[in-house]
Amino acid sequence: MKIFQEIINFLFPSFCLRCKGSLSAEEALYCISCLKSLPILKAYCRTCGTPLNESLLQNFSQEELNFCGNCLSEKPPFDRVFLAFKYESPIRELILQTKFNEDYALSYQLGRLLRNILPVDPKHYDVVLPIPLHPLRERERGYNQSLLILWGFMGVRLQRDYLQRIRYTFPQSELSFSERKKNVKDAFAVRISLVGKKVLLLDDVMTTGETLKEASRALKDAGAREVHVLAVARA
Ligand SMILES: [Zn+2]
Ligand SMILES: [Zn+2]
Repeated sequence: MKIFQEIINFLFPSFCLRCKGSLSAEEALYCISCLKSLPILKAYCRTCGTPLNESLLQNFSQEELNFCGNCLSEKPPFDRVFLAFKYESPIRELILQTKFNEDYALSYQLGRLLRNILPVDPKHYDVVLPIPLHPLRERERGYNQSLLILWGFMGVRLQRDYLQRIRYTFPQSELSFSERKKNVKDAFAVRISLVGKKVLLLDDVMTTGETLKEASRALKDAGAREVHVLAVARA
């Protein structure tokens, strides 16, 4: 792992993408003062991830935004959501680059950036997983960008194939909101028993949340006690 990190550091010189100042060992992509310029998602429902009006933060902290109208009418299969950014520039461009430009180092650094934004400690989970790609899509793309983001976030390599994609699905971004639920139905399988386990599941972008919901259902069916989901950005 040390060698992997050294290669990443070599490939990715540590200068802030915005002010070009040099970064400390804890900083990634942006220095602490330029973090403030990023489209951080400040107010969202902790249960379902719906973005909420920031004026709520005058009376509540983000940790107190525990429910909204959407999840009161249909409770999602996951138990808690963590979101870092709005899906806006420059985060949108960074994510697209991790998906389509084979930018391994950028994916990893994006994961490290999350550590400076989100109050999530991976050590509090028994199992931490990325949303898997179908093996055919992974072969096409060469790697799963969510796995590399997760490595950066955790600072370690981890077991990756507990959760598998067993159906080849269309990219959710090419479908209407109403088609997305059907598209990912029964797309996931879990290869181990998760009885009593607390699981953290990571995806790059959460849009309608259908992919994260379907994967969470599979994890719960395998016995997971609690499933928390984390997405880099919310569209
Ligand atoms: Zn900077
Ligand atoms: Zn909600």
